[in-house]
Amino acid sequence: MRKPFVAGNWKMHGSKASIESLVDGLNAQAGQIENVDMAVCPPAIYIDFVQSSLTGGKIAVGAQNIAEEPVQGAFTGETSVEMIKDLGCAYVILGHSERRAIYGETDAQVASKVKVALDAGVTPILCVGETLEERESGVMEKVIATQIDAVVDVVGIEAFEKIVIAYEPVWAIGTGKTASPEQAQEVHAFIRGKLAGLNAVVADKVIIQYGGSVKPDNAAELFAQADIDGGLIGGASLNADDFMAICKAA
Ligand code: PEP
Repeated sequence: MRKPFVAGNWKMHGSKASIESLVDGLNAQAGQIENVDMAVCPPAIYIDFVQSSLTGGKIAVGAQNIAEEPVQGAFTGETSVEMIKDLGCAYVILGHSERRAIYGETDAQVASKVKVALDAGVTPILCVGETLEERESGVMEKVIATQIDAVVDVVGIEAFEKIVIAYEPVWAIGTGKTASPEQAQEVHAFIRGKLAGLNAVVADKVIIQYGGSVKPDNAAELFAQADIDGGLIGGASLNADDFMAICKAA
């Protein structure tokens, strides 16, 4: 049995005041959630503030990115895995479609960051997903397989026991368009089947989150699918009531 995992990606949102009130809301409700792993991923500059404001030990903290270089050095503007670990991060989101599309992160760079995270004992949340154009032109499975293979080639299939995969169709992120539960399940089953072809035991254990306009009113139906093990939540994670309702649905 896989334990569902719901993580909030706050992206580049928040101020000390707004985060204080969001964390207050999370602290007030997190105790009601059982049997779901939960995490929030604030902007790097607020990780320490969030970590020290969260109470009750139910919600872990993650980062949204790390540098490809594992150690300290002359990399202006970057944040190392050791730094996020030092601030208590258990997770790091890697290969988010915004990082791939806006900052040009390649499959190879994402794979090397996954290795850097694993080597440091931080769990990567590896985002994969297709654009609408790729889906409509019939190359969706090829795109996702390539994104996953790049990581398998670098870290090996056994490492996927320590990797969370987030399937995020690019066309559903921040657009209000959600993949239907059937569409999402089809891709989740494809991902798990692909991993099973390499190692069935690992494939059975790997957590595969769905991400893309998950809201309180569509979460339960998505999470009821056999291969959907929780979600990576963007917009709705900025509202404590919505995020907690989604966690409850898991
Ligand atoms: C995301 O950015 O990871 C995401 C899923 O965003 P949203 O929930 O806003 O679509």
